[in-house]
Amino acid sequence: MPVELVPHQSLIALGRLAGSRGYLWGTGGNLSLRRSESHFLITMRGTALDQLDSQDFVLAPLQGERDEPPEASTEIQLHRRIYQARPDVRCVIHLSPFYTTLVACTDLELPTDIVPETALYLGEIARVPYIQPGTDELARAVAEALGKERSVVIMANHGVVTVGESPLDAFRRVEVLEFLCRMVVTARSAGLELHRIGPDAVASLRRSYGVKARG
Ligand SMILES: [Zn+2]
Repeated sequence: MPVELVPHQSLIALGRLAGSRGYLWGTGGNLSLRRSESHFLITMRGTALDQLDSQDFVLAPLQGERDEPPEASTEIQLHRRIYQARPDVRCVIHLSPFYTTLVACTDLELPTDIVPETALYLGEIARVPYIQPGTDELARAVAEALGKERSVVIMANHGVVTVGESPLDAFRRVEVLEFLCRMVVTARSAGLELHRIGPDAVASLRRSYGVKARG
């Protein structure tokens, strides 16, 4: 049924895009998409995100147990808790791109008012301490850190979770965050100080582009 193929295809395209940007290594990372009020589609465990096909996904119940269904990504609970807490979210992406993960292993500050895109797409970035992957403890901490308004959570010594109203919306946040982390790390390595555009400029950007103030 062509209608059923569309959600798979959007996540397959997302995985390839992440691969083309150099954001993947090993079999880390997982992608999901809300399908209905009761279910979401998620990548299966052990999949390479840049080589996904329609067999690499499983439909999971929103109100399921932590390991249900068993063939789903080991980090399914992370996705489930977010969909439970945020009815506005349609797509959840978890990846560990290099610069984002490097920053996640440090206390480096991440100012988002550096260029217009970082101010508009990232909003307030939440951070959670290191918690073992795959646990409900991590899932709850991430959902709580997102709250009702945030879209980006950095998980210490692990990677990032972004959410969005669509796959591209969530992916843009991964991309802009990786760009920001690369700028911050590169500036620090070169001894450069990044100038910030400041809260007034950010507020003006959000008014112009119709982005709701976050955090
Ligand atoms: Zn992970």
